[in-house]
Amino acid sequence: MNIFSLTVFSGVLLTLSAMGQTKNSSPAESAKSVTVGQGEVARWAGNCLRCSFEKRAWDAVNGTCYYPVDMDMEPGKYTISRRTTGGKLESATLTVTENSCQQEDIKNFPKKEFVNVSAKNQARAAKEAAIVNPLISYKAAVRPAVFDLPVGKPANPLPKGEGNFGACRTFDGQPRDRHTGQDYPVAVGKPVLSIGNGRVVLAANQFFSGNAVYIDHGNGLISEYFHLKSYSVKPNQTVTKGQTIGLTGETGRVTGPHLHLGVRWHGACINPGFLLIDPSDMPEVQ
Ligand SMILES: [Zn+2]
Repeated sequence: MNIFSLTVFSGVLLTLSAMGQTKNSSPAESAKSVTVGQGEVARWAGNCLRCSFEKRAWDAVNGTCYYPVDMDMEPGKYTISRRTTGGKLESATLTVTENSCQQEDIKNFPKKEFVNVSAKNQARAAKEAAIVNPLISYKAAVRPAVFDLPVGKPANPLPKGEGNFGACRTFDGQPRDRHTGQDYPVAVGKPVLSIGNGRVVLAANQFFSGNAVYIDHGNGLISEYFHLKSYSVKPNQTVTKGQTIGLTGETGRVTGPHLHLGVRWHGACINPGFLLIDPSDMPEVQ
């Protein structure tokens, strides 16, 4: 009998079995899996060289493949794979689960120009987004990783985060984009520290983000520090882990002083808290 059963996920052939015939897929390998929430990171440890996630691919970091999941990635099953240093290609199923978006309604927002944004400021913000978006998007070719995990704290001491990563927000009742980072309640004028070795790609005053610094840590990892009182670095400058890059403040769209830390990895907007934990605590392919 020649009856074939095909299971296709997102255009990728996952399993192929035939009755009375053996195909070259190994059931033991295709059974590997990991479950990870939106905005979180999964890892596949050991002798990895190259990693792929659907149609995107990147290098392993110190022999481990990391699979960052964007906060808006559709929940469901995806195929990830890795090539090992021995040349072996392995696949696994990555299941994305929903992390429901916390509703944050900010009333009586003090800086009214950020609630009812003038045409002039809207144009300014659009121009700034056009500069930032290419910096934080997925790229097929990136510089090698110069950071290590866990990353360093962006302030010392670092208070507990507000837990508002990914929050769905309204300002005086008007819905706005989801919150792309984690806010830490740090008073004005404290040193802001680079979370890893890297290179400054942008340091500028922006309408929504205020004084903002963006650092490229290689391997497609970009960190963002917003609302600073001031910054002391410039584009193309090399920085080291823990180096002071500016001072905390309350510039841009804020209700008060705090440090906003955002992280993009291979274009995915992820919870920075996942890079501050021991990587062995991340969900792991097994
Ligand atoms: Zn924030």
